[in-house]
Amino acid sequence: MDTRMRIAFHESGHVVVAALAGLPVQSAVILAEADSAGKCYLGSSDLEPAALAMIYLAGVAAVRRADPTEPAVLGLVDAVCAQELLRAPSDTAATLAQVVAIAAREADALVALGWPAIERVAGRLARYGYITAEEIQTLCAPVAAREE
Ligand SMILES: [Zn+2]
Repeated sequence: MDTRMRIAFHESGHVVVAALAGLPVQSAVILAEADSAGKCYLGSSDLEPAALAMIYLAGVAAVRRADPTEPAVLGLVDAVCAQELLRAPSDTAATLAQVVAIAAREADALVALGWPAIERVAGRLARYGYITAEEIQTLCAPVAAREE
């Protein structure tokens, strides 16, 4: 998978899992100057920390599903954010690692549920370098409808 497609799948994972959680996504972009990073602009929300952590973990999960041999290089910052959201005051490093591992499997399941939409959003992102809130809504609509 080339870098652009990898970024597209990564951002698409964030976008679609956010949509599944009912969190509005304003836009997502592939940052053109470097062609090595992307960004996903989420609306404000009152989601539980665990649900927000799913959105962070979904970027790496989407790339992993698209190509299991891909290294998770784009997900390091996401992983730190997810850990902070999932951390309980009493957690030891070992407990936190277990909590994060369970959350990563849940993120994999959400990515599997939203996969057709993730492929549509990633395809559009790779082609145009950005996607708008309206396009996201349209491309995620069949997923959202199935959820109801
Ligand atoms: Zn990310």
